[in-house]
Amino acid sequence: MPKHIVSGLKYLAAVNLRKKGQTQKEIANALGMDRSTVSHYLNGRNISRDSIEVAEVVIEMCPKDSLLLTYTLLKNKERTRTIIRTCQNKRYDGVIKNSCIGCGLCVDTCLVKAIVLNDLKAQIDFKWCCGCLICVEMCPTNSIEIKEVVD
Ligand code: SF4
Ligand code: SF4
Repeated sequence: MPKHIVSGLKYLAAVNLRKKGQTQKEIANALGMDRSTVSHYLNGRNISRDSIEVAEVVIEMCPKDSLLLTYTLLKNKERTRTIIRTCQNKRYDGVIKNSCIGCGLCVDTCLVKAIVLNDLKAQIDFKWCCGCLICVEMCPTNSIEIKEVVD
């Protein structure tokens, strides 16, 4: 079953990356697949409807559960963030307060590698943030605020 969920997640990401104009080669590289499998997926072959439906449920879960499940299945931060951010249609924004002490806990915690330390202060790249709020829970000084962007 886990393999079928991974296939479904990669299928959803491949379709969305194609809609964004990526080539089959770029999609294959981003998702760690061979090009023929990408081609099959984009043509609706070699993928079951059940796998796609389960993957859609995973993406629709709360951001934290969706991220943790996807990362547990893939065990790869780059592919996890590509799949999550490609399939999730929400955006997030926020601030790091001046109380940040630069401990780096949030950097180590973020499963999509959205946080870096710059001059001993955390910075979040909201291109990758999926709103899981794990960093908010971990921060010892309550310095992180993240909210969903409502258009
Ligand atoms: S966990 Fe909090 S205090 Fe530590 S670097 Fe991140 S934002 Fe700063
Ligand atoms: S909420 Fe924090 S831990 Fe989660 S993806 Fe965004 S920056 Fe990373």
